[in-house]
Amino acid sequence: MELPRGLTTTETLRLVSAQLGCSPASRQVADDLDRRDELRPFREKFYVPKVADLPSSDLSLADGAEECLYLAGNSLGLQPKAVGAHIEEQLQKWAKTGVQGHMVGPRPWAYAEDELEEAMAGIVGAHREEVALMNGLTVNLHLLMLSFYKPTAARHKVLLESKAFPSDHYAVESQIRLRGFDPEESMRLLPPRTGEETLRTEDILDVIEKEGDSIAVVMFSGVQYYTGQLFNMAAIARAGQRKGCYVGFDCAHAVGNVELKLHAWGVDFACWCSYKYLNAGAGGLAGAFIHRKHGDSIKPALTGWWGHEFKTRFKMDNVMDLRPGVHGFRLSNQPTLLVCSLGASLEMFSTTSMQALRRKSRLLTGYLEHLIQLHFSQDPARPHKPHIRIITPSDPEQRGCQLSLCFSIHIGEMFQELEKRGVACDMREPSVLRVAPVPLYNSFADVHRFIQMLGEVLAASSQSQKA
Ligand SMILES: *Cc1c(COP(=O)(O)O)cnc(C)c1O
Repeated sequence: MELPRGLTTTETLRLVSAQLGCSPASRQVADDLDRRDELRPFREKFYVPKVADLPSSDLSLADGAEECLYLAGNSLGLQPKAVGAHIEEQLQKWAKTGVQGHMVGPRPWAYAEDELEEAMAGIVGAHREEVALMNGLTVNLHLLMLSFYKPTAARHKVLLESKAFPSDHYAVESQIRLRGFDPEESMRLLPPRTGEETLRTEDILDVIEKEGDSIAVVMFSGVQYYTGQLFNMAAIARAGQRKGCYVGFDCAHAVGNVELKLHAWGVDFACWCSYKYLNAGAGGLAGAFIHRKHGDSIKPALTGWWGHEFKTRFKMDNVMDLRPGVHGFRLSNQPTLLVCSLGASLEMFSTTSMQALRRKSRLLTGYLEHLIQLHFSQDPARPHKPHIRIITPSDPEQRGCQLSLCFSIHIGEMFQELEKRGVACDMREPSVLRVAPVPLYNSFADVHRFIQMLGEVLAASSQSQKA
C-alpha cells in the first residue's frame, strides 16, 4: 500500500509503526517501508559487491556470501548490470566493422553522445542544446571558466566556499593566476560562521550584495561534498546576476541526487561528473551546461573539430562553423566506452524521475537521521559515551541523500571495523563519516543494518578505549 504523500519522516514512521504495532526503531518498519517502495526493483539492476570480494573485509566478522552494505554512492555509484552488454556491443561492432562503426550500427560513434544529452538534460532541468557530455569534470570546469572568468582591475574575484572540493579550489586558483591575478586577493573564500559547519544562505547573499561589484564569477557547488549541504542555487544565481556576476555551479554531488532546474533558475553555467550518483564508472564522461540566454555571446576559448557543426564537420575545409552554445565547447571525438557506461545508466534514470527518486530519498535519509538521533545522540547522563552530531542540515530542503556524521571520538579504528564487516562508506579524518543512502539502490533495511553495525563497532571501540 502506498504511503500518503506530504508527510514528514517522523509522521511516516509514526504511522507505519502504529499500523504494525511496533516501535519506529524496529526492523519491521524498515521491511514494511521496503515493501511499499516503488523503486525497489532498481536494486536488482546493479552489481552490489559481495562482502567476501572486498579486500578490506574480515570473514570471521561478516558473512562473505552477503552483499556488502554499500553507502558510498556519493563517491562512486554501483555498476549497472547493463553496462557490460552496452560495451560488448560496441566492441563487437568495432571488431566486425572497424572504421565504419563511426556511422553505422547501434550508437554510431560520430554522434554517440547525442541521444544521451536528451536524457541528461532532463536530469539537470535543462534544454537539450544547453547540455554537452564531454571530458572529465575538472576539464569542463576549466573550459567554462576560460569563457566566463574575464577579470578586470575592478571586477576580478571568484567567490567560492572556503572548503570547496580540492579540484575546484585548484582549478579556480590556477584560472586566477592564468589571468595574471593573485589568488590571495582574487579568490574570495567564504567560511561558515564561527562554531557552525554549514553556510547560511543569508550570509552567502550578503557577501554577494556587499562585494558583488568586485566579483566576476560566483562558483559554488550545488551540494557540498563534505557537509552534504544543498545550496539554494536559484537564490544565489539571482543575487549574483543582480550584481553583474556570472554564476556557475559544480553539480558533482547534486546531479542524480536532487532535483535540478538549471534552466529555470537562470544559472549561467554548470558542470558535473557522472560516476557518483549517475553510476557511470570511475572517470566517466562529464557534463557541462551553458544557459541558452547567452546565445552566441559566450564562446569557447579553445576549440576543436567536435565543436564544428555536425553536417559539415567532415568536409574538413578548415573553416570553423561553430555550433552554438555549449556544443561549441566540444573538442574531441567521444570516448565510446565511456558513452556506453553512461548510456546504460541514463537508460535506467529515464524509466523513473528525479521527483520519484527524491521522494524516496527524503524518507530514506530522514529514516537514517531518525535512527541516529534515537541511538547515538549525546546522553546527558553519560556525556563521555561516544555520540554523533550530524553536520548536514536537518532541513530536507537543504540536503540531498548524504549525511555527514561527526563522532565525539577519533574514528580511524572504528572505520576499519566497519570495513571488516563489509560496510562501504567514506571517512574524513579525524572524525567524520559520510554516509549516502542512494534511493536508486539502497533500501530501508540497509539503513537499519547500518545502524546496528554502528552500534556494534561503537560499543567495541568504547570498550577498547576504556581498556
Ligand atoms: C568528485 C568531484 C570532483 C572530481 O573531479 P574529476 O575531474 O572528476 O576528477 C571535482 N569536484 C567536485 C565538487 C567533486 O565532487
